[in-house]
Amino acid sequence: MSTVFKKIIDREIPAYILYEDDDVLAFLDISQATKGHALVIPKEETVSFLTASDAIISKVNVVARKVALELMDVFKAQGFNILSNVNEVAGQSVFHYHVHVIPRYTKDELVFEPKPNAYDAKEVHEQFKNHEKNGL
Ligand code: AMP
Repeated sequence: MSTVFKKIIDREIPAYILYEDDDVLAFLDISQATKGHALVIPKEETVSFLTASDAIISKVNVVARKVALELMDVFKAQGFNILSNVNEVAGQSVFHYHVHVIPRYTKDELVFEPKPNAYDAKEVHEQFKNHEKNGL
């Protein structure tokens, strides 16, 4: 399951690295959704947010917050989106867990388009609560 990110970790291909420690690497996304768009990944290979251990999720997200703060400072961003795509249907294209840190600017043109009112929250909640294998 070796991916392009494993090659970046192993320095087989180049990347614009922002941060590195024993467990985590952060580098610029080759396709910049906004200025400073970064990816934060664990060095340990794991497919996604769903397969990563609690410890890995914690380490990656702690670094994502530090990177986000630094990017906001350097590029004078006003905020950011933290995003992790899980599975192809959600847009995942590299199957090595990663968190996107996407700095946001007052005048950027990035649009996320949720569809409000597509489903009735009351009905969705009933279905969720009635599911017998609900593990929460
Ligand atoms: P996702 O679609 O959520 O799996 O995100 C994968 C991201 O990896 C995409 O935004 C790509 O632009 C980015 N990407 C793919 N190859 C590279 C690379 N060699 N260096 C940096 N970013 C990459």
